[in-house]
Order: sequence, then C-alpha cells, then structure tokens
Amino acid sequence: MTLTKKIIIYMIMGMIIGTLINLTDLMRFAWVNNYVVYGLFEIIGTLFVNALKMMVVPLVFVSLFCGTTALREPRQLGSLGGRTVFMYLLTTGIALVIAVAVASLLGVGEGAVFPSNLEYQAKEGKTLIEVITGIVPQNPVDAMANTEMLAIIFFAIILALSALKAGQAGERIITFFQDFNEVIMKMVLLIMQVAPYAVFALLAKVFAELGIEAIKSLAGYFFTVLALLIFHGLVVYPIILKLFSGLSPLVFLKKMRSAVAFAFGTSSSNATIPVTLRTVTERMGVERSVGSFTIPFGATINMDGTAIMQGVATVFIANAYLDGGLTLLQMGTVIIMATVASIGSAGVPSAGIVMLQAVLVQMGLPTDALVIILSIDRLLDMTRTAVNITGDCAVTCIVAKSQGRMSQAIYYDPDSGDVKQDQQSEDVKMVQEN
Ligand code: ASP
Repeated sequence: MTLTKKIIIYMIMGMIIGTLINLTDLMRFAWVNNYVVYGLFEIIGTLFVNALKMMVVPLVFVSLFCGTTALREPRQLGSLGGRTVFMYLLTTGIALVIAVAVASLLGVGEGAVFPSNLEYQAKEGKTLIEVITGIVPQNPVDAMANTEMLAIIFFAIILALSALKAGQAGERIITFFQDFNEVIMKMVLLIMQVAPYAVFALLAKVFAELGIEAIKSLAGYFFTVLALLIFHGLVVYPIILKLFSGLSPLVFLKKMRSAVAFAFGTSSSNATIPVTLRTVTERMGVERSVGSFTIPFGATINMDGTAIMQGVATVFIANAYLDGGLTLLQMGTVIIMATVASIGSAGVPSAGIVMLQAVLVQMGLPTDALVIILSIDRLLDMTRTAVNITGDCAVTCIVAKSQGRMSQAIYYDPDSGDVKQDQQSEDVKMVQEN
C-alpha cells in the first residue's frame, strides 16, 4: 500500500472513531477523556505536529537557498515573483467576490440574535504595514526563532544571490547547502512514516470534541462557509488550473490528497509546508527552484479559504446587526479588507479569526459575535487550511508551467513521489545503518 492511501484510510478511521466517541458521549468516562482523547490522541498528534514544525524553518531556508541558486539568473526570480503574486491575489479576489455575493444573496445572519453577554478578548493581529516592514529582518536568527516566514524567505534569497556572485567561495557554500538539502528531505521522509497514525489521532480528537449542538445553532453560517470552501477547492481551482496551464485538474486533485489530509489534521498551512513542498516537487514535477519559493510564500500570504470565511462572517454579522445588511459599496470594502486580512493571517490555527476582528472593526461592526463564530471554528479552520494549501499548489503549477519549469511526465505519472511502504522502510534502514 502507498503512504497516501494509508494516510487517507487512517484519516477516515480517525473521523469515524472521533464521531462515535462524540455521539455516544464516551467522554463522560474519565478514562476516555483523560487517557484516550486528551492522553493518547493528544500526545501522538502534538508530537507529530511538533515534528513537522521542527522541519519548517530549516526546510524553507535551505530549500529556498538551493532553489534560488538553481535559477542562476536573478532576473528570472523577478518574473517568477511577479507572476506568483499576481496569481495569488487573483485567486483570493475571486474567492471573496463569490463568498460575499453568495452570503449576501442567501442573507446569512438575517434575524440572528446573539446573547448580549458576549465579550470577545481582543487579540493583536498584524497590520498590512507591519507585514510589509517585517519582510526585511533586523536579525535573521530572531526571524528564524519566531518562524517569521517572509523574513526568512527574504534572507535566504539575498544569501543565495550573493553566493551566486561570490565565485569559488559561493560555489562551495552552494555545494554544502545542496548536501544539506538532501539530508533534510530524508528527514521529512522519516517523519512521514508515522503520518498515518498521527493523522488518525489528530482527527479522532477533533471529531470527539466537536460541538454538534453549537453547529446546529449557527447552521446558516457554518454550511455557507463549508459549501463555499468545497466549491472553491473542487470547482474554482480546477477551472483556473485548466484555463491558465492546460494541466489536468483531475490529476491535480488526486495528487493533493495527502497534503489535504495533513492540512486537515493540523489546521496550519505552516506546519504543512514540508508535505506541500513535497507534493508539488516530487508528485507534480515542479522544479525545486519554483516550489521552494512559491510554497512557503503562499503558506504565508495566500489564504483563499481564510478569505472566504472572513467574507461570509462579515456579511453574517452585518446582517445580524444592521438593518438591510451591507450596501454594495460596503461589500466592495469588505472584499478589499478581507484580501488584506487574509494576507496578514499567519498560517497557524485560528489566525483567520484574529484578523477577522480587524475587518469588523474597520467596517464599524461589533466584535462580540466572534465568540460565537469561534465556538464552531475548528472544523471550518481545518477545511479552509486545506483550501489555502490547495491554492498554493494550483498557483505553483500554473507559474511553473508558464516558465517551463515543470516535468509533465512526473505530473501525469500516477505513482510519482508516492512512497511505497517497503521502499520507505528501506530508506529508514539505510539511515539507521549509516
Ligand atoms: N489555519 C489557517 C491556515 O493555517 C489560517 C486561518 O484561517 O486561521 O492556513
């Protein structure tokens, strides 16, 4: 069995077991609550997410360094960056126009009454200015310690461009990083070995905790966001991919499966970077020089799923509090504000809600209702993270194809990059022996 299949099977099993625990209210037994859900599941899940996060900074840094030096021509980096930013903004814009239009037409939130005793504890999000000025780090070590993705990207690119200009010394550094890169990729593969069990634990825990009652009371909002997320992932991206690159959307969606399972389990685009990067390079045939730039960049600024949630949530709260809801002009403002807010949202769980607060404040809407939205956010967070990273991969394929930096032979090979279990253990044995 391939690793992808195994991950999908364990993911579904996790959802089923979690739902059973929830429906039969097994968590009323202290041992299920303390030792199984918040014991075993929590420990396995957290260890695994930690291991993924552990890989993010070295992986992004080293692979971006190697990717940039492989381009050889600094000018290519400019056109790669320009196309990527354009596509990221375009997909987010499309997501928001559809989300705000649909939510307004459906009138989500009309007639909703919120309890008056809500108090939302405001958290600090980043403003666009802070995002921009944060691109150049004052201290690269500090940026790495705090996983400041844009700053790490900037530093890696400058270092790589300097290495290209530094003659023999630069060449030696490049060779060193190429070796380092190999080792890190092996490390990712090693961690992936336990992925199925971890995905099982993560999903069993979320589904066991799920507040089905809470979801019922917010059904209008919940299902509008969910439907729009699924529509964006399964309809909008495939159309955009086909239009801009001519690549088969079906193959694309198939190859996305294991990355989507990770995004689902971790609710974090950042933690999923090692898997997303592997998906575009090994499974879809995108050159490392492109993927190592577009994927961490996208995990930081491209969040179409988050934008969809922010758009619908704003319309929802406006409909509940304002007579007649939003005007057309206000809808336009929401689209622009939510685009900025989604760029400012970090790739970590619940980040989108923190930035939603900024949109609400700008629109003059009360933020108290965020408490309610937050209470049912977990499942939506998982789903929008899956959409976020699917968007990163779609844009990566489009940009790579347009620059002639992808292998269609690998893209159309159904087994490319998927690890067979026995081959994997070979790899592990090799590592252990050495
Ligand atoms: N969890 C999302 C992500 O990492 C961000 C969010 O919308 O909260 O992509």
